[in-house]
Amino acid sequence: MRQYSLFFQIKLLGKENSSRIHAKLILESNPIPSWSWYHNLHLTSVKYDIPTPLHLLEAKSSISKLKSLVKSKITSYWETNLRLECSKYSSLVHFDPSTCKLLKPHYIVRESGTSEVLNKKAILQLKMLSGRYRLNTLLSKFKMNITNTCQMCDTGQPESLFHLLVVCPYMDGTREYTLLKWKNVVSVKNMSVLYIFSKAIIMWSEHLLVKLILDPTTTVNKTLSISDNQLLSQLSNFTQD
Ligand SMILES: [Zn+2]
Repeated sequence: MRQYSLFFQIKLLGKENSSRIHAKLILESNPIPSWSWYHNLHLTSVKYDIPTPLHLLEAKSSISKLKSLVKSKITSYWETNLRLECSKYSSLVHFDPSTCKLLKPHYIVRESGTSEVLNKKAILQLKMLSGRYRLNTLLSKFKMNITNTCQMCDTGQPESLFHLLVVCPYMDGTREYTLLKWKNVVSVKNMSVLYIFSKAIIMWSEHLLVKLILDPTTTVNKTLSISDNQLLSQLSNFTQD
């Protein structure tokens, strides 16, 4: 972006200015000399699918419009690449980056920050979502003296996220409290959302159910395209409850 800011300053100098004439001459040469700063700028344009520097120099659009175009192209490039990168990590299996924006914090981060307790809950949620929450299934891979089974109940089942969030009898009370509370909150606002949760509990796979519990805003929004921002914001607190 700094390269382009400098370039747009040269464009602003006006067609008679020697620096701009120099820029035009260099950019019109084919190929652009590799020793020139404009060569790097040209390569950057190709990488991010931005119109060529010569095109930008001659364009009649305002500088602010051209800056927005460059910014959106660079942002879009990195959003696509980072989303692709996320799909390569098995630890991020429950994380859906498809609606994440590079220039806007994830809603979990946006909705935290109002108190220390909320911050701690948000950190816990993000650790679970990013596969870094220290469950015994994860710890047993690194420590020989730890088994992968759940220590809170006596079922002998592996302590996975699915077990912790959906199955573990030790968490029954917390689960019941949260579901009852949210049944009331959601049914008043939007019955379709309540339907998704009911359907998910009965029919969805373990993976999708954990995904819904850990990141309800993204999952519900993708399924229903809800425009009620207050409801989406409230949904982000479901996991933390
Ligand atoms: Zn358990």
